[in-house]
Amino acid sequence: MADPKAAHPGLYRIDREPPPLLGQRCAGCGRLAFPPNPYGCEGCGAEADELVTEEIPGHGELAAFATVHLHPGKDIEAPFTVGTIVLDAGPTLRATLTRATDDGLAIGQRVRSQLVPRHSEDGGELLELRFAVEET
Ligand SMILES: [Zn+2]
Repeated sequence: MADPKAAHPGLYRIDREPPPLLGQRCAGCGRLAFPPNPYGCEGCGAEADELVTEEIPGHGELAAFATVHLHPGKDIEAPFTVGTIVLDAGPTLRATLTRATDDGLAIGQRVRSQLVPRHSEDGGELLELRFAVEET
């Protein structure tokens, strides 16, 4: 069987735990961005060739969340919960959480990145990036 692959290569690494995200640091103003922006820096307007790929640790804080109860897509089954996460390194992103519902979730909880496998259409395994509440 083939090795598992990242469902979204270029956004995160799958060879370390917790999986680091792949952002961009602007050589002009130092701004760290995630996801990578193909057009350049949103902070100072620098061209894309001044942006350097940088690994961002997958640690942050839950800033908001919402549970989706009806979803027609086939990649994920409802219910699932999407969170707004403020990474410790600065960037904010929206990501699916490992918990299906918001049961036990609270604003300000510590979260970390985690890979969750799913089957791809060609029979292989894809690793999706999710965020899990850190056990204390
Ligand atoms: Zn910049």
